[in-house]
Amino acid sequence: MAQIELRVPDIGDFKDVAVIEILVKPGDAVALDQSLITVESDKASVEIPATAAGVITELKVKMGDKINQGDLVALVEAAGAAAPAPAAASVPVAAPVAAPVAAPAPAPLATAIHTGGADLDCEVLVLGGGPGGYSAAFRAADLGLKVVLVERYASLGGVCLNVGCIPSKALLHVAAVMDEVAHMADLGVDFGAPTVNIDKLRGHKEKVIGKLTGGLAQMAKMRKVTVVRGYGSFLGPNHLQVEETSGSAQDKTGSTKTIHFKRAIIAAGSSAVRLPFLPDDERIVDSTGALALKAVPKKMLIIGGGIIGLEMGTVYSTLGARLDVVEMMDGLMQGADRDLVKVWQKMNAKRFDNIYLKTKTVGATATPEGIKVQFEGLDGSKSEGVYDLVLQAVGRTPNGKKIAAEKAGVAVTERGFINVDVQMRTSAPHIFAIGDLVGQPMLAHKAVHEAHVAAEVIAGELKGDAKLASAAFNARVIPSVAYTDPEVAWVGLTEDQAKAEGRQVEKGLFPWAASGRAIANGRDEGFTKLLFDAETHRIVGGGIVGTHAGDMIGEIALAIEMGADAVDIGKTIHPHPTLGESIGMAAEVAHGSCTDVPPVRR
Ligand code: FAD
Repeated sequence: MAQIELRVPDIGDFKDVAVIEILVKPGDAVALDQSLITVESDKASVEIPATAAGVITELKVKMGDKINQGDLVALVEAAGAAAPAPAAASVPVAAPVAAPVAAPAPAPLATAIHTGGADLDCEVLVLGGGPGGYSAAFRAADLGLKVVLVERYASLGGVCLNVGCIPSKALLHVAAVMDEVAHMADLGVDFGAPTVNIDKLRGHKEKVIGKLTGGLAQMAKMRKVTVVRGYGSFLGPNHLQVEETSGSAQDKTGSTKTIHFKRAIIAAGSSAVRLPFLPDDERIVDSTGALALKAVPKKMLIIGGGIIGLEMGTVYSTLGARLDVVEMMDGLMQGADRDLVKVWQKMNAKRFDNIYLKTKTVGATATPEGIKVQFEGLDGSKSEGVYDLVLQAVGRTPNGKKIAAEKAGVAVTERGFINVDVQMRTSAPHIFAIGDLVGQPMLAHKAVHEAHVAAEVIAGELKGDAKLASAAFNARVIPSVAYTDPEVAWVGLTEDQAKAEGRQVEKGLFPWAASGRAIANGRDEGFTKLLFDAETHRIVGGGIVGTHAGDMIGEIALAIEMGADAVDIGKTIHPHPTLGESIGMAAEVAHGSCTDVPPVRR
């Protein structure tokens, strides 16, 4: 019997991702593509599949290990000594990449493909009306193409506008103002205790959503994009069937439409992961349920200490809930440098009764008193808590398996991701995919940029414009932001990554305790940090913790894209007194020319 090494395949932009679950043990028989372990980044978890079938003889990873592409996960004894599948064959993720990669291998076409007519005909069909989908549709229309956009819900905007980025920020803004007002008492102005009208607050959030989604509907009309409401699934390489829906959910009306397309862009997004052992109870919610803001619980559990969970926790805690958080890893907000997170954690300690780290949620029961939840530490310790509200925020899973992509010849991975090349092209050369369902990071700004690439490539091909047809997604970096209080934002290489990779970097750190604006605001706990490559001296990464960090991280992203060095950034005159000035000052610290911090001892 041959021993085969099961290694981590190409998982795109994941680096040093932590093992949060081990799904197999020695002696288990595993099939090709069966999930072996789960790894977690800052916003989602991904299962790593077996690249060959066999019986596990040895596991080479343990909980909490940080892994990368090519790392050994397990050894299997393969019956018949089957050769391992090429690593790239079962990749779950397409990543932001600088160099072009080959288009994914084509999927065999399903035999029963559509040969009949169609109710609608278009040059570009876009499936899904989230940030990826509507941006693709609008860009394609602006480039002169006839576009049909299919969306199952009544409003455009997808997760981001309806149940994600925007409603969470509408509530986080209110929470931030409440916290700020409370802080004013220390500065001599006491507004007294707030009175919260939860119905009015919910109404405000709905209004914000309505304003944005209404705007999208109008912009679709102005661009003559035909929006078809319904659930889309492929009938063949050039046909999509839409089961029409109505109402506020996805209730099927029974009518169908067939759409013929020359090119398609799949933007069907992702859904929240549900822990299978949690009971069906209205006191257990995902982020959508939490954003519904039905009531403020006394005691709330957040399962998963990532950005989404912590943002929602911030809202509920400011409104009055006491929080517990349970996280499998050894720290909250994975992905960000620990020094940034430490500042957030110190400021937020008062919100939490318990922060369970290196701990699994192993069971839950619905009782009249609340949801009784059991925890198990990685050290074997056991504990329990009773909660009025449990938020599961353990990641998101792509919707790739729900659209009959195989009928169009589009390959979908075991996990439901669709692999694409740098032009966002799937294994079917005339079909493109973008957004959450092509991989990490699952962020709206990534989806929008991918959308523009796909639309431009298609327009270039259909209109014979070589420049447009050569468009590619070649972003060097994609920023991440936790819109907590203080905000934590980072982009490019992190210091923890640099250390783990043994990469030499020069650091410039400007503490906000030296920022006139931060001190004037009474919020000088933060800092701005820039990392420069030790050889080229060009900026490779940066992080900010402090109020408005998310609004400022774009400048660091721009500096990385432009290949700036510390002198470029430091000599760029930033207005005084601003928080943004801290970026220029951090560059000056790296360069040794900052006069706003104590002198460097020689
Ligand atoms: P989606 O937004 O998921 O849109 C996909 C659309 O396709 C949906 O409208 C869906 O109804 C539709 N669809 C799917 N299948 C079909 C079908 N078969 N037929 C018809 N329609 C279909 N990202 C950020 O960048 N910043 C943030 O601050 C942020 N905050 C977030 C907060 C929360 C609570 C959550 C849950 C997510 C947050 N995100 C944030 C992530 C962001 O929402 C997603 O990355 C983004 O929405 C992905 O866009 P998309 O177009 O790929 O997919």
